[in-house]
Amino acid sequence: MAENGNCEHKGIMESKVVETRKFDQIVIRTRVCKKCGERVRTVELTDRNLENERRVSRQRLDKLTVEFKAEAQEIAQVMDAIKVLAKIGSAGDEKQRGD
Ligand SMILES: [Zn+2]
Repeated sequence: MAENGNCEHKGIMESKVVETRKFDQIVIRTRVCKKCGERVRTVELTDRNLENERRVSRQRLDKLTVEFKAEAQEIAQVMDAIKVLAKIGSAGDEKQRGD
């Protein structure tokens, strides 16, 4: 605390965040300096591209989920049809065995 006033706040970007304010292009964070304990505001650019990428991948995931559900329904229908076929098949076998 003695160096308060001439502290260069080194490593401030890794310090504890006590407040975050988000704006369109920037984020202003209030951090507590590890060395002097002073509250320092840091300005960071928001990574718009990363945000957009995340949004896109979320959309892609949603789309895949919908596609998978549709496919799963189709598979279920095919499975039902196979079960029906198997029943008919085994019924036929039983009849043949019975004869
Ligand atoms: Zn400091």
